[in-house]
Amino acid sequence: MSKTALISGITGQDGAYLAQHLLSLGYEVHGILARRSSPTTWRLEYLNILDKITLEEGDLTDASALLRIVLNCKPDEVYNLGAQSFVATSWAQPLLTAQATGLGAMNILEAVRQVRPEAKFYQASTSEMFGGMKEFPVQSETTPFHPRSPYGVAKLFAHWTTINYRESFNIFGCCGILFNHESPLRGIEFVTRKVTDAVARIKKGKQKDLHLGNIDVKRDWGFAGDYVKAMHLMLQQPEPDTYVIATGRTTTVRDMCKIAFGHVGLNYEDYVVIDPKFYRPAEVELLRGDPSKAYKKLGWKAETSLEELICMMVDADLKRV
Ligand code: NDP
Ligand code: GDP
Repeated sequence: MSKTALISGITGQDGAYLAQHLLSLGYEVHGILARRSSPTTWRLEYLNILDKITLEEGDLTDASALLRIVLNCKPDEVYNLGAQSFVATSWAQPLLTAQATGLGAMNILEAVRQVRPEAKFYQASTSEMFGGMKEFPVQSETTPFHPRSPYGVAKLFAHWTTINYRESFNIFGCCGILFNHESPLRGIEFVTRKVTDAVARIKKGKQKDLHLGNIDVKRDWGFAGDYVKAMHLMLQQPEPDTYVIATGRTTTVRDMCKIAFGHVGLNYEDYVVIDPKFYRPAEVELLRGDPSKAYKKLGWKAETSLEELICMMVDADLKRV
């Protein structure tokens, strides 16, 4: 008998890659589709899996819809990937972020608790919960949290709610503290994809320069296709737990730009313009994860280098442009 998975955020980067991975493992895949005025299924079409999954209309802020969906599809595994996930937007729309990213996790956990308590649950936690304080240059499962944005605060609420439901109601709730992960399916507003899209446009003569904010911040970037495998592995363990998923390498935005422009024979310094508009009210300066627990317990490690990842993204954007 094949297992059934329910994914919130299935139209997002990770949702699409996770759906593809679970389908390849023989799962029946259902996804929650939040209604928008224009179609949002382009990533599922890009991976050629739209007709292989079942989409259920609902929203993380609508607890009644979540109850109906969980009741109807009776999932064995629930992956909560839905969120307002862009840090910069979380200052412009803090309440929406709190409702979708924070309370939304509690809404879907409540649905699981009430009608499908045996389902295993995955919460998409984030390195943004650490805030990258200087006294912790490498962050692991035991590093204290200090979120620096409404997004980070909302995610911390969802993170602790998952642990609390594990401890209070015996829900098999796992938290994956994932560091930044990217792909050709990354949203265009995130810095890697903004850079690789601009590189492709500049190369093809369709754009003159690239406006960025603070390019001296450091991130631990991996490939989303590798990271969704870790989500699935967490739910196959005998006990629910929390894991850091990262590469262990940190790089500045500046050096990431160097790789992206260098891939098409250009020098980033000729095109990047520093624009204060993209500075944030509070910055996370340095993220570098310690993935050793994931390696030890899940046998998981990142398989794609930053160079491979950025070149893959530039190549995909060159094709699109
Ligand atoms: P995306 O922004 O690409 O996808 C977010 C998804 O959530 C989309 O499908 C979006 O739907 C959906 N969504 C947004 N609001 C709601 C709502 N109110 N109800 C239902 N669905 C909603 O994010 P990623 O795929 O990159 O990330 C997946 C998860 O992992 C997110 O929770 C993110 O915060 C977290 N995360 C991501 C990291 C990364 O580097 N990518 C790092 C650590 C954590 P729509 O398409 O309609 O907008
Ligand atoms: P985040 O780590 O989830 O916030 O992912 P982003 O890709 O949005 O940002 C990564 C880092 O790049 C942050 O520290 C940003 O401040 C920095 N950055 C610098 N310029 C830009 C820009 O123009 N857009 C974005 N999104 N980030 C930028």
